[in-house]
Amino acid sequence: MRFKDLSQLKRPEPLTITLGNLPQHILMAKYAKDKAFKISELVGVIFEKSFEWYGFTLANNDHPELIVDIGLPENDLNLQDHTHLGSQRIAEFQESLPEDVMINGWIHSHGALNYRHFSHTDEENHRTVLDFVAARTRKPLVKKEIVIQDLVLLEKDRFVEKDLEKGSISLITDKPITEAKIMETIYGSFCYSIVIGDEGWHHQEIHCRKRGILSGHTTVRSQAADIEFVNTGKSLSQVDIIALSDEVKKKIKPHTDPPPELIERM
Ligand SMILES: [Zn+2]
Repeated sequence: MRFKDLSQLKRPEPLTITLGNLPQHILMAKYAKDKAFKISELVGVIFEKSFEWYGFTLANNDHPELIVDIGLPENDLNLQDHTHLGSQRIAEFQESLPEDVMINGWIHSHGALNYRHFSHTDEENHRTVLDFVAARTRKPLVKKEIVIQDLVLLEKDRFVEKDLEKGSISLITDKPITEAKIMETIYGSFCYSIVIGDEGWHHQEIHCRKRGILSGHTTVRSQAADIEFVNTGKSLSQVDIIALSDEVKKKIKPHTDPPPELIERM
């Protein structure tokens, strides 16, 4: 038998059924956006200088894809703490939130600098945040066939130990069968990353992880994403701004003499 070309030798594609999708762009309440830029503004007013700060983007558990609020943890603007966002720190913040609120990403400011990208350190932080929020943003994406070359079908109570030496996978069923397909669920998780500047610019990415529950096959991907601002009916009131101002005073601790590394890492 002769083949015209090697493509004819390909095995059939495994059966794949789509169950859901990860977000392709970021949804953010206008309130959350206004709050983020207001924090930057308040930092400038309170400390009479622009400083970076970081916070978490928050969602309601029943709609993990929509950023409804910004959570401000204690910011220590000294080099060590701010540079590396530890999972312990994220966990502490998650624990301080109401039960129906979850972290779905992080946001930080580059202050007055016009550096509109994520730094190398920022990228490490993306991964830390994704690891932390993955369980909460997880959803089934695809059911995909696992093609098994030498699947052995056995019948319950009717096989001997020797039968298990054969094949890479043994499927034991209660009735005799001659064919079986094994389909695994591929779960997807995501987190958002947003960086903003005092001048009003913002840049953002979505980080996604997909993992096959049986094969363990995992892929991680980051992509620049558009952001859609949604009017949720909530707006930043004067009362909110006063409360936010107190929060900024309490939680942002500017390092007035930043070491050169602080600038470098941006
Ligand atoms: Zn940064």
